[in-house]
Amino acid sequence: PAMIRLEHVGKRYPDGTHAVDDLSLDVAAGELVTLVGPSGCGKTTTMKMVNRLIEPTSGRIHINGRDITRTDPVKLRRTIGYVIQSGGLLPHRTVLDNTTTVPTLLRWDRGKARARARDLLDLVGLDPDTYGKRYPHQLSGGQRQRVGVARALAADPPVLLMDEPFGAVDPVVRDRLQTEFLRLQAELRKTVLLVTHDIDEAVRMGDRIAVFAQGGHIEQYDTPLAVLGT
Ligand code: ADP
Ligand code: ADP
Repeated sequence: PAMIRLEHVGKRYPDGTHAVDDLSLDVAAGELVTLVGPSGCGKTTTMKMVNRLIEPTSGRIHINGRDITRTDPVKLRRTIGYVIQSGGLLPHRTVLDNTTTVPTLLRWDRGKARARARDLLDLVGLDPDTYGKRYPHQLSGGQRQRVGVARALAADPPVLLMDEPFGAVDPVVRDRLQTEFLRLQAELRKTVLLVTHDIDEAVRMGDRIAVFAQGGHIEQYDTPLAVLGT
């Protein structure tokens, strides 16, 4: 059964821009699917719809068998972790406070949330004693990205949405972050949608690749080997 299912999803923005058109996609539990394609082909719009930051103008989206428009928003926050380029951190909050954002929204016990945040910072390779008290501007790009991943994992969601998660760092750091994330994913087995405009990253990271074409539909949805062979 699909963990994420998009059925004939479309999005037309109020100004008339048709960003996504009749998009259907199934992602199995524990699978990492990369969405790849040129700028402006609807990848970010798709991610925002799955995270319910914006509503589709047609079609349906199911997560774990449930229509997201009929899921309690708090429950959806617990189900989905969202990672964006540059980490998307709150600039006036420390690394530790950024990492506990979602558990705080979910009204977790403060001590439990902080202990969990420290474990996660460790997991992504940041010593919590050294980095927990810093502010985002006191980190390198790669470190901000690591905090973004730790924050997204804080409430242990089964689904991770990652929008150009390694886009804002230099190639050497990107390579290291990709390797580390693959290692983490082998352990955690999240259901992941990862957006990239880089075909090499899509091939390296994806169990399957959804190749987007201009106009917001999928041209090909297959394994890296099959996509490379065409
Ligand atoms: P990608 O992530 O693949 O670069 P986007 O989903 O960001 O693509 O954008 C898809 C299309 O929708 C583009 O033509 C973009 O200009 C347009 N678009 C994105 N956001 C909006 C918006 N809020 N209002 C109008 N058009 C938008
Ligand atoms: P990277 O190779 O990971 O991109 P940078 O060259 O950006 O690293 O940063 C190197 C080190 O300097 C990192 O350990 C980072 O924590 C630290 N650093 C970067 N900017 C600041 C800052 N504004 N205040 C304190 N430390 C910083």
